[in-house]
Amino acid sequence: CGIVGYVGGSDAGSFLLNGLRRLEYRGYDSAGVAVHGGAEINITRSVGRIDALAGELGETPPAGMLGIGHTRWATHGPATHENAHPHVGGEGEVVLVHNGVIENFQLLKDELIKKGYEFKSDTDSEVIAHLVAEGLKKTPENKEQPNMRYVTAVQWAVAQLRGTYGLAIAFREKPNMIIAARFGSPLVIGVGRGEYFLASDATPLIGSTERIVYMADHQLAVLTPEGFSVLHRDQGKVRVDIRPLETES
Ligand code: GLU
Repeated sequence: CGIVGYVGGSDAGSFLLNGLRRLEYRGYDSAGVAVHGGAEINITRSVGRIDALAGELGETPPAGMLGIGHTRWATHGPATHENAHPHVGGEGEVVLVHNGVIENFQLLKDELIKKGYEFKSDTDSEVIAHLVAEGLKKTPENKEQPNMRYVTAVQWAVAQLRGTYGLAIAFREKPNMIIAARFGSPLVIGVGRGEYFLASDATPLIGSTERIVYMADHQLAVLTPEGFSVLHRDQGKVRVDIRPLETES
């Protein structure tokens, strides 16, 4: 029931693991991380404690400067390795983590299966991954603003969801970009220098940055090492306030 993300100039893995440990108090039954190594995205998942995930990652965890991580509190499908996040969409072009519940997932899943998408888990979340992949298929490349194609695909996908979501999405073709989206499941952006963080609440960000942005419902965020922008789900860019991270409240 927690999300973390990192994009910047340092190795993503240690922020992801430490961040997930700081979110442990929220409760969870399994965990996983995905790290973008440049050419491909490496996914590691594990049932049980973050320590088990750390064990799975071993002494030489996959290296990369972009990553997303998740602690799962199972709602659809038991706590198994297959159902642990991150989930993959299409042929591996989309990798995402999801907190929340998608109420119309069965309907969407049936349609996606008819289109040829293959499901590997019982989760509602995997539907979102394939939907984003389908959105990409429908959206032509945008040479002037290459990231926009991905934003459009995510907007198209989330517009079909009924339920709640906090999402962090990575793309195989985009080793430098995370797209986040929120409706009913909290997400916070950590603003660094040449690096940006994402988390379900501010605790994983302590020590990494003192400047944070609380995402609002219906917002999407694009994070790259060069900066971040926040958009309304179906309108354009929105201005956001960067707030100081308060360590005591
Ligand atoms: N509904 C999703 C699942 O069962 C996400 C649960 C969560 O918020 O951790 O995998």
